Amino acid sequence: MLNQKDPEKEIVLQTLLEISNATVLTGDIRELTAFIREQLGKLMDTTNFYIALYHPEDDTFTMPFFSDLKDHFERVPAANTLSRYVIKTNKSLLVREKEFHDLVDKGEVKLVGTDSKVWVGVPLRVNEKIIGMVGVQSYEDENMYTDADKDILELISYQIGLAIDRKQKEEELNIEKAYFEQLFENVPEAMVIQEYPGTITDANVAFNRLFGFEPGEVIGKRLDDLIIPEELSEEAASYTDRSFRGEVIETETVRMRKDGEKIDVSLLIKPFRISRDKTIIYALYRDIRRKKEVERKLLAAKEKAEEADRMKTAFLTNMSHEIRTPMNAILGFAQLLSTEQLTAEQKREYVNIIKNSGDSLLRLIDDILDLAKLESGQIQVSEEFVDIDEQIESLYTTFLNLLSSHYHADMIELRRKGHGQKLPFKIRTDPLRLRQILNNLLSNAVKFTREGYVEFGYDILPEEEALRFFVKDTGIGIPEDKKEIIFQRFQQLDDSKTRLYPGTGLGLAISKRLTHLLGGRIWVESEEGKGSVFYFTIPLKVMEDEAGANAYAVRGVKSRIRQELTGKKILIAEDDPFNFLYLRAVLEQAGFNVFHVGTGKEAVRFMKKEKEGPAADLVLMDIEMPEMNGYEATALIKKAYSKVPVIAQTAYANPEEKDKCMAAGCDSYLAKPLQISDLLNEISRFFE
Ligand code: ADP
Repeated sequence: MLNQKDPEKEIVLQTLLEISNATVLTGDIRELTAFIREQLGKLMDTTNFYIALYHPEDDTFTMPFFSDLKDHFERVPAANTLSRYVIKTNKSLLVREKEFHDLVDKGEVKLVGTDSKVWVGVPLRVNEKIIGMVGVQSYEDENMYTDADKDILELISYQIGLAIDRKQKEEELNIEKAYFEQLFENVPEAMVIQEYPGTITDANVAFNRLFGFEPGEVIGKRLDDLIIPEELSEEAASYTDRSFRGEVIETETVRMRKDGEKIDVSLLIKPFRISRDKTIIYALYRDIRRKKEVERKLLAAKEKAEEADRMKTAFLTNMSHEIRTPMNAILGFAQLLSTEQLTAEQKREYVNIIKNSGDSLLRLIDDILDLAKLESGQIQVSEEFVDIDEQIESLYTTFLNLLSSHYHADMIELRRKGHGQKLPFKIRTDPLRLRQILNNLLSNAVKFTREGYVEFGYDILPEEEALRFFVKDTGIGIPEDKKEIIFQRFQQLDDSKTRLYPGTGLGLAISKRLTHLLGGRIWVESEEGKGSVFYFTIPLKVMEDEAGANAYAVRGVKSRIRQELTGKKILIAEDDPFNFLYLRAVLEQAGFNVFHVGTGKEAVRFMKKEKEGPAADLVLMDIEMPEMNGYEATALIKKAYSKVPVIAQTAYANPEEKDKCMAAGCDSYLAKPLQISDLLNEISRFFE
């Protein structure tokens, strides 16, 4: 048809060309269709022109452009329309009113919209697939279109289809691109896209926020120059390199913010091959600081739990050893004692062993209880004015005895520093706890020293307003790295089963807590193999009445008792016969005149039995007794003779108990088991 030069054919060709260029020249599908209509208008009347795109999935048409005098559709069901008929038959169609009605009568089509006089429809095909149809119609003139028009329409329909299809794909791509851009910008994960060799082409909001950059700031720069901590530059370079070669990297690492802060991140790098020779990579960062923090805490807690478990096991092993050793001695020697053919010397020796073993058991139990109470905050310090020199003196005596009876006394010399000089005032502190600390340190010093000396004493740290005690030994010493650890509970330098030195590893832990409770600190200086010096401080709280303090001079306890107090009458109110026998032995030996009652009632009766005055000069009052307890008895005795000193003795060593005794009228208070020196000290105090 188009083989000869013919102005009309020229126009057809021209139109074809225009339409083929249309996709490039027009913006969207609407504009494209309008353009097509305009071009087609050069060849035929396009007053009522439309393009219907067919959607088989729901059997509908959309009309991106509808130019019609009568009707206006945008998305309509396709069923039984003429347009649908064209698509079904895949053939161009020209119908006039009459033929249309025939089709309606045959049930092929239904009337939708306004009846037209003539209608031409041509399928639009792209690669054999029908994508819709293009149509023109006239409502007035049935001769408006002829088969020639149909042919022309058919001729350019292919070009229209192509143009529309291309436009449609372009729009889809645009939508996808916009969608991707939206997604990329708005995902909460920090994302960055890089081209070879690691240049940033895009970074989203979350990325800039996480790393502290301004929008656009990072574009064109190398990622590895921006967020990699120096020490990780090799790691990062290898990730970049590997991912450009196609590897997916997934890891947890550390990256650096613009301000230099390092942050824990999880990192995912994925390569994308966008053409034969171009790969981009995108990297996704997630802030895992909180997660890492939780992990660190969990790990620390786990380690702590394991350490506690290890310590508990060591403690139990240790404890069972510590309990069994004295227990075995007690049971073994008690059995030996019951055999009859023993010399007095042997008996004394066995009794001694039993007593010592009992002592260590008691110490152990005290330690455990003390520590438990200290750790649960149950121990309170009770403050009173304490003569420090007296305390040192009495500890010295105690340890001299201990050394002579238990240890290689001839190998270790016990020294106290500043002997003879005295603090001119008393210190306000808890004497019981102070003694306990010194006692622990001295026991350790003696225990860990084979030969040389153990020296203890105190001096004043004026700038700290503290009294500093020290216990120095020439023993095995403590390695530098263990100087802290030994103050933790159950910690011993040697926790093997075959330990050289007995002990529970509680003494220093208790001492440390006690010093803190008293308001001071504790530390050690030591050299392995040479010896150690343990120091601790207590605040220098001084008595206001210094004259009174000065008057309180310290003299040798025993000599004072012998000379001045011989013959004083002491009543022991005690229901336990063993305790009584022990007390009587001690007091009679010291020269006192001792009487005994077994109940509170008897104690009151005894005191009042003479008309001239009290029957004893001092009462040693057990608190737990049958018939009438120590509190009541004390109150009654005090009512009659307020000047007679009453010293309470109880099994409970705590401030509450002490308060109760004092409230009942007792003048003093001692915890069982009574230490001889403490007891004598206390008694002599009242006879001054
Ligand atoms: P224990 O003496 O019952 O084992 P401590 O808590 O008193 O428990 O002491 C803990 C550890 O500290 C001891 O086992 C010992 O290893 C070390 N230690 C304490 N005092 C000394 C000291 N004077 N010389 C050497 N080592 C010591």
